[in-house]
Amino acid sequence: MGPVLDTLSRPLRNLRLSVTDRCNLRCAYCMPEEEYVWLDKRDVLSFEELAFLVDRFGALGVTKVRLTGGEPLVRKDLAVLVAMLAQRAWLEDLALTTNGVLLAEQAQGLRAAGLRRLTVSLDTLDAGRFRTLTRRDSHGAVLEGISAAARAGFPAGLKLDTVVMRGVNDDELVRLLDYAASVGAELRFIEYMDVGGATRWRREDVVSRAELLVRLTEAFGPIEPIVEHSSAPAERFRLRDGRTFGIIASTTQPFCRACDRARVTADGTFFTCLYATEGLDLKAPLRAGLSAAELEALLRARWARRVDRGAEQRLALTARGPLATAQELKAEPRREMHTRGG
Ligand code: SAM
Ligand code: SF4
Ligand code: SF4
Repeated sequence: MGPVLDTLSRPLRNLRLSVTDRCNLRCAYCMPEEEYVWLDKRDVLSFEELAFLVDRFGALGVTKVRLTGGEPLVRKDLAVLVAMLAQRAWLEDLALTTNGVLLAEQAQGLRAAGLRRLTVSLDTLDAGRFRTLTRRDSHGAVLEGISAAARAGFPAGLKLDTVVMRGVNDDELVRLLDYAASVGAELRFIEYMDVGGATRWRREDVVSRAELLVRLTEAFGPIEPIVEHSSAPAERFRLRDGRTFGIIASTTQPFCRACDRARVTADGTFFTCLYATEGLDLKAPLRAGLSAAELEALLRARWARRVDRGAEQRLALTARGPLATAQELKAEPRREMHTRGG
């Protein structure tokens, strides 16, 4: 049995694996509420269970895995999981997305464990603004973390991801690009998305790909698109001075047609779309002792039925507000971006 295709002929190649739903920040676009309902710690999968699941996804065609969260670095001994996964020769790409708060102390260990690609979220270069945006005083720690990552040297690339929000950080586009260049990282601007967790989302706060390109052209002159044949959500561009950057236009130009991503929460719930309301519980069958082949059959059957085009369907709405209310998210925390892994 080889790779599997969904109803729109999309293969399953990418897995975003959330290792925890906990986070040490409270970003306004992801965790704006005062209180959250957390996954039961007993339900959170062990590293052995996560690695076993990764192998099952590998049998279906996954070649790229990104560890995420919540904040993945708050998961104790994460480098142990990285080392386990890095040993899998079939895994072409193992990456991690972090908010960087704990990176200064972990960058070297993650690199030594075999991590080759790292993305750090950075929305502002202003410490006061960071505090307002995240409700935590960790800006210095994040910048130290990024420096430590640059020193550790991630051979497959260091990226910085910036969610652009109107009136919040959209005046920092140029500064952020300059900063990224100074640490040898590539910056990606992400459109603000109306995902679960973004309970304060408003269409007017989104700075679109089109607007970003206009503003950056005003600042830097003509911008050249880089033609690439990949299913990666980021479109890449080159400035006249040779610097490159990306834009992830998930809100105004979604890429559902080419979407080959699965998501698994820290308690082993399998989602076929960021916007999906129903997930498939893998923990119960896993802990009931289903064989590798039986679990792969479960995953295969689920992916083969996949019809999701969540962001495209959202785009077609005339009236568009937050995807879910805080109340709805409390009732089903797996709909939260910080549980589903972004
Ligand atoms: N905590 C880690 C971090 O922030 O990098 C990893 C998990 S976080 C959920 C993954 C990514 O989702 C981050 O880059 C974050 O900026 C992005 N994200 C969260 N909410 C978002 C939203 N409403 N719109 C766009 N991106 C969002
Ligand atoms: Fe921010 Fe990531 Fe935490 Fe969400 S999970 S609050 S994006 S740091
Ligand atoms: Fe993939 Fe769903 Fe995102 Fe579309 S909305 S790109 S189908 S995860």
